[in-house]
Amino acid sequence: MSKRDYYEVLGVARNAGDDEIKKAYRKAAIKYHPDKNPGDAKAEELFKEAAEAYEVLSNADKRARYDRFGHQGVNMGGGPGGGGGFSMEDIFSQFGDIFNDGSPFESFFSGGQRSGGARQHRGSNLRIRVKVTLEDVANGVEKKLKVTRAVPADGVTYKPCPTCNGTGQINKVTQTFLGQMRMASTCPHCEGSGKVVDRKPPGVDQDGLQRKEEIISIRIPPGVAEGMQINMTGKGNYGRNGGPAGDLLVVVEEENHEHFRRDGHNILYDLDVSFADAALGDQIDVPALDGKVRIKLDAGTQPGKLLRLKGKGLPILQSHGKGDLIILVNVHVPTKLTREEREMLEKLRDSSNFKPEETTGRRQGFFERMREFFTE
Ligand SMILES: [Zn+2]
Repeated sequence: MSKRDYYEVLGVARNAGDDEIKKAYRKAAIKYHPDKNPGDAKAEELFKEAAEAYEVLSNADKRARYDRFGHQGVNMGGGPGGGGGFSMEDIFSQFGDIFNDGSPFESFFSGGQRSGGARQHRGSNLRIRVKVTLEDVANGVEKKLKVTRAVPADGVTYKPCPTCNGTGQINKVTQTFLGQMRMASTCPHCEGSGKVVDRKPPGVDQDGLQRKEEIISIRIPPGVAEGMQINMTGKGNYGRNGGPAGDLLVVVEEENHEHFRRDGHNILYDLDVSFADAALGDQIDVPALDGKVRIKLDAGTQPGKLLRLKGKGLPILQSHGKGDLIILVNVHVPTKLTREEREMLEKLRDSSNFKPEETTGRRQGFFERMREFFTE
């Protein structure tokens, strides 16, 4: 019999996320579990098939090989003849990962024959937002974050868990189509740690943890952007009963800049010049992220002219490259005139050189320039 497609087996799309795959497998495992279908060979087959599909699709490496090469890329079972190498014990040991997240299935399923001592629970992740300016993005920055996290408290005493006598596991006998299986599952009372809090000082919770404010330094690299997340391993909440800490997830929030707008790695700047400067040409100082930069305005510069200053933009993350500073030249038209200015302008108006040229096609040229600038 040829094997069915693993995605089809679990009833998920090829681009399904890890959670979706886990959910789908959970559903199939419950439906076809031998405890629920005693003596049903078809159910047993579907049960094994789902387990095998999950084994592959839940592992990024195996999944990638399966996506490229199909079943041959992940030849299950190993031995000659292939297939059937996935034993019932393998399947039940998988359940440790699937059903051991505090879900109600934990008590329904036996969780496999887990060996070893008490388990520790990793603490939860914390998430915090950090504001950065465009200058911070340009140079990178060291930030100090105030974080309130759960940390182990002093003066807490523990005693062995009365439910499991300190082993972290409880045993039960399960009837399967393979016969009776004695299986250990995680103690629901201590969640496998084998100990519970005996006495604790005030302000400490049932897990032996207390909230503490800490200042945590983080180095934000150059080139970050809005919404990026930096993970600080082990800077989240500690777990109960001596479990290791989760992570601190730092989310970047970009502040608006008084001069610039960001466009990917480029920064955009609107420059207002006077009519006289545009006509006569000039040297003009414009702001840049690393101070000022002097640009040369050619005589006869038209409104809408775009200037590109290479490498004056933002650094590109994990690269030595840099974006550009792009300057849009606007020609300022005065709205209030002195009598003297008005007289000068009226004289200018009469000069033949002052009449606009035929403009047909020039606008087109402007849009073409825009496209050239922004789609490279
Ligand atoms: Zn226990």
